[in-house]
Amino acid sequence: MSTATVVGGGPNGLAAAVALASEGVAVTVLEAADEVGGGTRSSEAIVPGLLHDHCSAIHPMAVGSEFLGGLGLDRYGLSWLQPQIDCVHPLDSGKAGVLLKSVEATAAGLGKDGPRWRMAFGQPSARFDALSEDIMRPLLRVPRHPLTLARFGAPTVLPGSAFARLFRTEEGRALYGGIAAHAFRPLHYPMSAAVGLGIIAAGHRYGWAVAKGGSQSIANALVALLTDLGGKIETGIKVESVSQLPRTDVTLFDLDPAAVANILGGRLPGRVSRAYKRFRRGPGAFKVDFAVEGGVPWTNGYAKHAGTVHVVGSFDELAATEREIHAGRMPERPFVLVGQQYLADPSRSVGDIHPLWTYAHVPNGYSGDATEAIIAQIERFAPGFREQIVGMAVRSTTEMSVYNPNYVGGDIMTGAKDIRQLIFGPRITLSPYKTGVPGVYICSAATPPGPGAHGMCGANAAKLALAYLQRHG
Ligand SMILES: Cc1cc2nc3c(=O)[nH]c(=O)nc-3n(C[C@H](O)[C@H](O)[C@H](O)COP(=O)(O)OP(=O)(O)OC[C@H]3O[C@@H](n4cnc5c(N)ncnc54)[C@H](O)[C@@H]3O)c2cc1C
Repeated sequence: MSTATVVGGGPNGLAAAVALASEGVAVTVLEAADEVGGGTRSSEAIVPGLLHDHCSAIHPMAVGSEFLGGLGLDRYGLSWLQPQIDCVHPLDSGKAGVLLKSVEATAAGLGKDGPRWRMAFGQPSARFDALSEDIMRPLLRVPRHPLTLARFGAPTVLPGSAFARLFRTEEGRALYGGIAAHAFRPLHYPMSAAVGLGIIAAGHRYGWAVAKGGSQSIANALVALLTDLGGKIETGIKVESVSQLPRTDVTLFDLDPAAVANILGGRLPGRVSRAYKRFRRGPGAFKVDFAVEGGVPWTNGYAKHAGTVHVVGSFDELAATEREIHAGRMPERPFVLVGQQYLADPSRSVGDIHPLWTYAHVPNGYSGDATEAIIAQIERFAPGFREQIVGMAVRSTTEMSVYNPNYVGGDIMTGAKDIRQLIFGPRITLSPYKTGVPGVYICSAATPPGPGAHGMCGANAAKLALAYLQRHG
């Protein structure tokens, strides 16, 4: 029987482990934390019974994941819940950009931008399943659906600010911009349009769903399946040296590239080691979870029903704050992402006290306290919010990287999504999962297709590992 070690039990590590175990490989997952799940962990943090997602919250890419979707994880308790409204981007005028699962309904709410929204996202969302067969793998290969990919791909090379000019209304521009800014890239940079286009296409196909019972349910379901397949998990083991690794036929690292370079040391070819050590980080996230009595008193009525609210104001203001954090300066009014998962999943609340998930975009390694800036930004669009807060839990950029060493300096994207790293991953190669050491792979969100709880980096790397085992079995 072939054997495998997976280092790191995030969604990609678990996906890789499941893919290998399904083919009869004896897999052991080694995880540094006391529980697996990486960026898909949830727990009570403030009030007993109140459930908070520590990292990932909103899952269009996971629902649409070809790999996760094929596992039948509903048998292991994973179910998706849709908020009434996917995302709202309120403006100081009281108006808002409103994203619904349906392209038509979204277009209908965007006035004269409606036809443009439909033109931009109608086709990519209708063809998302075919599209994802190409964009959820390394990009530099022969595409399975060249026409669909070409049509989707053309605008992805644009800066987000150029793509936003397609829209005439402030609501349309801000709605698109807030989603594009999920990439943590300055919006005037080439290709900063890309991540937003992918998220919007996936969202119109699958909705901005939340996992019932918290994002932890994604990890729990993968763990249950892995256990059924005979896989083993060992927690509380931080791998820092190759000597800690059991002798197995293949090894997969669900880790930051620099960590892989440090662990493998001189075994890694010099050029790979140098590339991994030079891996560039993106800005950071400063996270605050709140316990809020009665919910958030948003001025905009749609925001009261939205799973996600983008809090920053106009597109121009958003573009300016993203430029600032990229330059290492903390803006007074940062971009704040607010998650109201309890609206779709009321089991997360306790009576009239609700869990509110927020994080602000801040410079990498930001050492200040962004809590007040986050509260002030929400107050701006929900006067009286401060009085509704009954408790909070704060995770600074440093605490984020202690919580999960993959998030260096609070970089929750596992690396800057600049053109090179977005296309190739940690080094320029057609095989981004290969480390150059036979049978050893990297499978974290640093590799294509990048961040998100979709497990596709792990599944793609596992395919290569299985092919290696077949050749050497
Ligand atoms: C605040 C926040 C909000 C997010 N929001 C969303 C969202 O709404 N939707 C979405 O799809 N994604 C979201 N993400 C991103 C998503 O969580 C990540 O992209 C995803 O978890 C990456 O999965 P991974 O398996 O590559 O790595 P991770 O989930 O980072 O897991 C890596 C695992 O490896 C372990 N590890 C690290 N070093 C070692 C070591 N040396 N030895 C052993 N184990 C080690 C870690 O403890 C961790 O368990 C968010 C992330 C954060 C932090």
